[in-house]
Amino acid sequence: MEVFRYSQARTVDGALRAGGTFLAGGTTLVDLMKLNVLQPQSVVDINGLPLDRVETLPDGGLRIGALVRNSDLANHETVKKNYAVLSEALLSGASPQLRNMATTGGNLLQKTRCYYYRDVNYACNKRQPGSGCAALDGFNRIHAVLGGSEHCVATNPSDMAVAMMALEATVHTQGPKGERAIALDEFYLVPGNTPNHENVLAPGELITHVTLPALASGTRSLYLKLRDRQQYEFALASAAVVIQVSGGNIQRARIAFGGVGTKPWRSREAEKVLEGQQASPEIFRRAADAAMADAKPLKYNAFKIELAKRALVRTLEETTQTA
Ligand code: SF4
Repeated sequence: MEVFRYSQARTVDGALRAGGTFLAGGTTLVDLMKLNVLQPQSVVDINGLPLDRVETLPDGGLRIGALVRNSDLANHETVKKNYAVLSEALLSGASPQLRNMATTGGNLLQKTRCYYYRDVNYACNKRQPGSGCAALDGFNRIHAVLGGSEHCVATNPSDMAVAMMALEATVHTQGPKGERAIALDEFYLVPGNTPNHENVLAPGELITHVTLPALASGTRSLYLKLRDRQQYEFALASAAVVIQVSGGNIQRARIAFGGVGTKPWRSREAEKVLEGQQASPEIFRRAADAAMADAKPLKYNAFKIELAKRALVRTLEETTQTA
């Protein structure tokens, strides 16, 4: 680990003034600093900021502070009752100890689990722009089938962000140029020529909170995560469904995938197939096919395409069963 400057901030303005890499739970940043993958010169500890509350908004939506711990959010009564998909996604991630430390803002910004990114002995355009991508001709079983480029095919590892994508969350920030509200769907970038740019945050911009819209009564939601082992493992493919069904007719559907895309992957293609149709195994399969129509397998990960399709079909079956 390289030498770095450490400071603590007590206010958002103080954190912005301090300038540097923000430290919250540290469950990604500290690991990657130990591996010399990230080498910030200045680390600003933001754990003292008043951003640790979950509040119901006047319109029935939810405001989640950036420092709310993953375990607190997953077990929050309103989240369990109204946003089950989010609670399920959070509880499927990491371990209890990590969830007690990891924060909402940090989870949105967590780094890929690509082995080559995390090992400085390998070429990696995300870690060192222009150095190449060892995964393209390497062991790419955990990599992306959607959104990749010839420069990077790393998956985004977050479960929470997949659920938030299906819930149409908005990310709120404060930075040197003021405050911004960014739809989560527009927050992440696909790698293209610049895989080192993973989201639209400007240098020094801080996530302050996330908002979720209120859901219509009768909305159901579910997160299904498929992985090599049942605990403490990242998704090979996951599906988040937020759906409203009346008399067997799908009125509204929001669909997102994890484990298969270079960002938490919302599928408007699947939503389009589903909305206005009677729920049935045929329509679920058609939605799954549409979602994966643009998937491009690498040498070792073609299985993810069928896995993601089955994850979606199963979540749709379960959320529409008795509706
Ligand atoms: Fe780096 Fe992306 Fe290639 Fe992995 S897939 S080695 S993160 S450039």
